Formats: sequence, structure tokens, C-alpha cells
Amino acid sequence: SSEPDLGDARRGRLTVLAGPTAVGKGTIAAYVRTHFPGVWFSVSMTTRRPRPGEVDGVHYHFVDDQEFDRLVEAGQFLEHAVVHGAAKYGTPRGPVERAIGEGRDALLEIDLQGARQVRETWPDALFVFLAPPSWDELVRRLVGRGTEDHGERERRLATAREELAAQKEFDEVIVNDDVRRASEELVSLMRSGRAGR
Ligand code: 5GP
Repeated sequence: SSEPDLGDARRGRLTVLAGPTAVGKGTIAAYVRTHFPGVWFSVSMTTRRPRPGEVDGVHYHFVDDQEFDRLVEAGQFLEHAVVHGAAKYGTPRGPVERAIGEGRDALLEIDLQGARQVRETWPDALFVFLAPPSWDELVRRLVGRGTEDHGERERRLATAREELAAQKEFDEVIVNDDVRRASEELVSLMRSGRAGR
């Protein structure tokens, strides 16, 4: 319709940021948090254990398997997935819907399986793929991070190979060659997408 929809104009825009392991999604998210306080961040639930420095309720809500499954049953997730064949991760639905309803621009930083689920239920979201400058650079980052043992690293690289092939499913691809540049590109896409609606 060509009629302006004033109700919709007050709603925020949902952006989904996905990309392979170790591409720097967490770093981009941290940069955007610090420099663009207007962006609302979804806090995911996970069954994996916190890493040093991670704060419950800030980086993730850390829950056990039983609690996670209960929330799945209750339909509390916008999407959820088992990532890297290990822990469960999910986006709580209520907070996202509230933020969007309040007119905030919301960002989900999730894996590819989750992004595909959101596309089914929220097709007008903006889907952004974060790509490494090269495959070698991705391997270098994963090894350099040193948070996974050899077996886990191999599993994540296998997943990453498949995930890189999925960039064509996304609306936009951002190459993470520089954290600041990539973060600014992301926020500018979030805002320009909004103006076009
Ligand atoms: P990490 O354990 O390193 O924090 O995250 C592992 C992977 O889980 C990353 O690819 C991250 O994007 C993904 N992830 C984090 N939260 C969610 C979520 O709520 N849903 C889904 N599907 N993936 C998530």
C-alpha cells in the first residue's frame, strides 16, 4: 500500500547479524554496544558455561538444560538451536517484541540456523552476514583466540566452511577487515534500511 502506516513507523527494525565462528561477531557487538547506545541488543540464553569475564544477564543468560527445554516448550523463543553440536542457544521472544514495539532498533547476534528460523517468522528483518577477509584469516583468528581445544576447533572450522557458503542467503554482507569500519557499516545499514520502509 502507498498509504503511510503510522503505526508501523513507530516500530523499530529488527536486524539479524550472523556469520561463521571466530569472524568477530562478538567484537563487533561490543563495539556497537559502546559506541551506538541507541541500538538495542538481545541477550541470548545458553546452556554453555560462562567464559572468564562473561556476566550473566549481560553477555548471555546462562541456564541449565532443563530450564532451556522448559522455555522451548512454553514457546518463549523467537529461535533456538544447538550450535557447534554442543550447547543450546536461543533468543527470548518477549524482550525483542517489546523493544521493537517501543520503536527501538534491535540487533540479534546469532548463528546461521537461528537466522534461517527468524527469516521464516520475521521476513522483513534485515539479514546481515559478517564475513572474514579470507579463509586463512578466519583460521588464524580461531587459533589465536585459544578458547577451544583442537577437537572443538576442528568442529567449528567444519561448520564455518558450510556457513561461508550461506552468505548468498543474506540481504547484506559486511567484511570484517576492521572492527570500527565494519561496526559503522552495520549501524548505517540498520538505519538506512529503516528509512526505506
Ligand atoms: P559463543 O559460545 O562463542 O558465545 O557462541 C557460539 C555461537 O552461538 C555463535 O555463532 C553465536 O552467534 C551463536 N549464538 C549466540 N546466541 C545465539 C542465539 O540466541 N541463537 C542462536 N541460534 N545462536 C546463537
